[in-house]
Amino acid sequence: MRAVTVIPGVPGSLRLLDDYPEPTTEEGSILVEAVAVGVCGTDLEIIEGKYGEAPPGTDHLVLGHESLGRVIEDPTGTLQPGELVAGIVRHPDPVPCPNCAVDEWDMCRNGMFTEHGIKALPGFARQRWRLQPRFAVGLDSTLGEVGVLLEPTSVVVKAWDHIFRIGQRAEWQPRTALITGAGPIGLLAALLASQRGLSVHVLDLATDGPKPALAGALGATYHAGSIDQLDLEPDVIVECTGAPAVVLEAMYKVAPTGIVCLAGVSSGGRTVDLDAGSLNRTLVLENNVVFGSVNANRRHWDDAAKALSRADRSWLASLITRRVPLSEYAAAYSPGPQDIKVVLDFTA
Ligand code: BGC
Repeated sequence: MRAVTVIPGVPGSLRLLDDYPEPTTEEGSILVEAVAVGVCGTDLEIIEGKYGEAPPGTDHLVLGHESLGRVIEDPTGTLQPGELVAGIVRHPDPVPCPNCAVDEWDMCRNGMFTEHGIKALPGFARQRWRLQPRFAVGLDSTLGEVGVLLEPTSVVVKAWDHIFRIGQRAEWQPRTALITGAGPIGLLAALLASQRGLSVHVLDLATDGPKPALAGALGATYHAGSIDQLDLEPDVIVECTGAPAVVLEAMYKVAPTGIVCLAGVSSGGRTVDLDAGSLNRTLVLENNVVFGSVNANRRHWDDAAKALSRADRSWLASLITRRVPLSEYAAAYSPGPQDIKVVLDFTA
């Protein structure tokens, strides 16, 4: 069958193989036919040879961690043939660490977790894949192709889950949220903030293209420019750019007792001037919290499926700015300036 693969660590090794082996029942009893795979910055880093790890005993890694498929057969009866399904990205480490032992694999402590399409597990950019029931998340059939947004939604559900848990350290009545970056993660973070009844602001560099209207459709206020020009004191900032200057500005901008969630992954290697003492002073004297958030566990995936079901379908659909047939796979991995989410289409 066809599969999109790379040799991790080797830039330019992206290929569409015709003869990739069918998944075996060792992977799981639920057999799934691929519908779509979403593309994100992590895939681009893997293609550039900067990230990613092949499964043991092979050189090739099948890409794709943002999945959507249709169940072909499920002998366990957990899902019905024809049902839409997505596969959970991360599997717990085998030790297991205290977090993986209780299925909080998103908080793995020893780094020995595995991830489909990223780290030592084949991804979902292949025509058929298999899942164990505990890693299979069924989706509302009315979602159709926007179900491919489940993975990035699970990541922001986890971020919001932790923000609210941290908020519980004291009396906390958050009103205003600022989301920095209006890519897929930022816009989905804004969707979840609006579902939580917050007054939402979205900041991005783009002055045209679809981003301002997408934020506006959520009832959010869109700002193009830098954080320090904003006339507001957000109770929560979800930082989705990973841009070092924005990360730092966010830490200064948040309101007293505020929470900054860092959800954007920086590439590293760039330095910025920082007065660490003044930053420390601000964080201490204002009881602020800055924390990082990655990945998601089963609870977050299930909540993400509910959040997508509640969202406006046409708004979700407009996040998908390009759909690329599998035969033209390479085009899916060259994002254009106006792209939000690009999807590899396995049905075309
Ligand atoms: C994925 C996460 C994953 C992270 C680090 C992100 O792109 O969405 O599921 O944990 O990369 O590998």
